[in-house]
Amino acid sequence: MTGNREATDAFIKAKFAEFYREESGRIKAPTAIEKREFGFLLFKEKIMLRHKSFRDVGELRAFLRRVVPSHAYYSAAYYEMPEESMESKGWIGADLYFDIDADHIPTECKKVHDRWRCVKCGFSGRGTPPEACPICGERSFDERTWPCEVCLESAKRETTKLIDILTDDFGFSLGEVGVSFSGHRGYHIHLESEVIRELDSTSRKEIVDYVTGQGIDAKFHGLEEIRGGGGRILTGPNLDEAGWRGRISRGVYEFLLKATEGDLRGIGLRRSVVNLITTNRDAILESWKAGGPWGLIKGVGIESWKAIIKRSVEIQSVKIDTVVTTDIHRLIRLPNTLHGKTGLMKVSFPAGEIENFDPLKEAVAFKKGGATIYIEEAPKFRIGEETFGPFKDEKAELPTAAALLLLCKGLAVVAE
Ligand SMILES: [Zn+2]
Ligand SMILES: [Zn+2]
Repeated sequence: MTGNREATDAFIKAKFAEFYREESGRIKAPTAIEKREFGFLLFKEKIMLRHKSFRDVGELRAFLRRVVPSHAYYSAAYYEMPEESMESKGWIGADLYFDIDADHIPTECKKVHDRWRCVKCGFSGRGTPPEACPICGERSFDERTWPCEVCLESAKRETTKLIDILTDDFGFSLGEVGVSFSGHRGYHIHLESEVIRELDSTSRKEIVDYVTGQGIDAKFHGLEEIRGGGGRILTGPNLDEAGWRGRISRGVYEFLLKATEGDLRGIGLRRSVVNLITTNRDAILESWKAGGPWGLIKGVGIESWKAIIKRSVEIQSVKIDTVVTTDIHRLIRLPNTLHGKTGLMKVSFPAGEIENFDPLKEAVAFKKGGATIYIEEAPKFRIGEETFGPFKDEKAELPTAAALLLLCKGLAVVAE
């Protein structure tokens, strides 16, 4: 490669330094800043600096300007003494966080743009890494992921579902639901209130189970077989019902609207049932106007509906990183700081504006200048209104934000 790794690292750090010098005023103090633990990943040797605390936002900003970290985090938790060791901190409470990341959403395009390599034997592949290396059994991989627009869009869809559950089912107002783009491949949702603060890990796990649709059994959500005069009648939930009853119904509607024969076979339905569903599709969709399709077709019984409901729960549930929500000591990326893997910012925005939010525009931190870089390989990508690439073993002059993305991702080096 024509370029220099050291010069590249120096370039990235200089840009991050410039950002914190000029833009640290954007960084706001989290609620009760003096009770939060802060953590920073340093460029130098990738050291993690934890158990830091600041009395006010001025101290925090000065620290960022002086140290220039590659990643900056603060604790979801409030502590009596945030600088002490974990056991001695004195946990007071924690905000509630949800992390939605393309890493946890099975998009098809990952097989094209994500790569992994076993740290032990070097075996590599595309897509999401396996549990264990098929050659040597190692469980640790170097991953090279890409924030592609399809993946970002699917993360946004999951976030929209979560906002919907938090407002409709949990009763939060739209204004209480804090939403941010992470600066990489996902979104964070942040809830702060007296009631939430004291929830322990188990209670948070219950919230996770609700949101991810764990253990939902259709019989507790309205699916019922009643023995009537002439035989058995099947009834079930309806579209406009609250909670998971409505979500199940809407999921069933959505699934049957588009399901191919393959999709229906894929959930374990018998060929005769698949035929009944595809030939009666219009009647099924129409039936939602009056009580739903549950008892509509002779030959599509309760077991078939259970299988369809199982799939509908998958459609309606939210794909979150469950550990983030249940971990009451978790460090969360600090809003308006830079993400070391992209050079993009974590940015917050009102929950009601998610539909039109454009992460590849709003998270751009550098709007001036450019850099000449040598690109090993990069897919076609967009920053703001401009599209770049694809690139393969070539030199290019790009605007700072676009160049920084490729440099931070390790796909390019500063050209000599
Ligand atoms: Zn291996
Ligand atoms: Zn993708």
